[in-house]
Amino acid sequence: MTPLKAQITRQITATGPLSIAEYMALCLLHPEHGYYITRDPLGAKGDFTTAPEISQMFGELVGLALAQVWMDQGAPTPFALVELGPGRGTLMADLLRATRDVPGFHAAAHLHLIEASPTLRDAQANLLSDVTHHDGPETLPDLPLFAVANEFFDALPIRQFIRDGDQWRERMVGLADGDLAFGLSAPLPLAALDHRLGDTSQGDMVNLCTPAAAVVGTLGARIADRGGAALIIDYGDWRTSGDTFQAVRDHAKADPLGAPGMADLTAHVDFENLARAAAPASHTDATAQGVFLERLGITPRAQALAKRLSGATLNEHVAAHRRLTHPDEMGTLFKVMALYPRGAEPPPGLDPKKADS
Ligand code: SAH
Repeated sequence: MTPLKAQITRQITATGPLSIAEYMALCLLHPEHGYYITRDPLGAKGDFTTAPEISQMFGELVGLALAQVWMDQGAPTPFALVELGPGRGTLMADLLRATRDVPGFHAAAHLHLIEASPTLRDAQANLLSDVTHHDGPETLPDLPLFAVANEFFDALPIRQFIRDGDQWRERMVGLADGDLAFGLSAPLPLAALDHRLGDTSQGDMVNLCTPAAAVVGTLGARIADRGGAALIIDYGDWRTSGDTFQAVRDHAKADPLGAPGMADLTAHVDFENLARAAAPASHTDATAQGVFLERLGITPRAQALAKRLSGATLNEHVAAHRRLTHPDEMGTLFKVMALYPRGAEPPPGLDPKKADS
């Protein structure tokens, strides 16, 4: 039994079942045993690999897209260059290298990183110079804000609900025969899920991610007021349904209740909820990552890089391009949505918002 499992078991015995959000927050961010607090989870030796760790092309293209929006908005100086959940800092390093020749961009940029993990804060500070760390978006400076978040929102704690009549039962983590087990609360009405009564039926499961809505609310208000944009990249859909709460350990799916604090826990991102929370900022549609990267020119960039490669490194490079863009890999599952000020030019490569949103 992990130390955190013993502690969670004692807590449930004392005060009753936990919501999935409470359980997820303890597993990921417990000050002593939390998954993100105790380790660097990324890369081949870690538990999972992300797009910026797969290829430098990802951060480069994201960087050029952000620099394009910055120029479209008249190159505001100074501005806050923000990343949420930067991991090892790889995306930001690639973004900065790719934008080195954009006139005035680096001189105007102040680097602000939102990061909960002391281990990853150290890695970011070592790789990048002049960074300011924040616990959340509330303390960001009052400047135009150009932000990126890759695989950040999937790590924020979700609550899960199962439709019962016109009410919802919350999925809880309790105890069965002394071991952690899922259970359901009594049915309760929930105004925050009224918009899902139309497209769900008895027994369907939906997620609610209140912390994500709070973060996006702060970003959206700032972008609407001071200018800027945010690129949000994650796995999920415009509207998510079903049980997407999952654990990943050592590059394989695991039981989310199996080893608290030792596995990454995530859920698919519901982009509609983010878009709703971002008002008064405008938003694009959640566009497939493969489509976004192709529109930004990943194939010519891949071909240019390939000229310098041969043998195994060339094969790896070709595989990385495929992994980022192909519909059978990350190309369709991952989506990109931008927030930007009403009336401004939307960021490049993204579909306009759906008529009904
Ligand atoms: N963007 C990086 C890392 C993704 S992993 C990449 O693409 O490689 C998720 C990141 O979000 C990690 O840096 C993790 O420590 C951070 N994180 C998770 N929950 C957080 C929270 N509640 N507040 C701030 N950072 C958080």
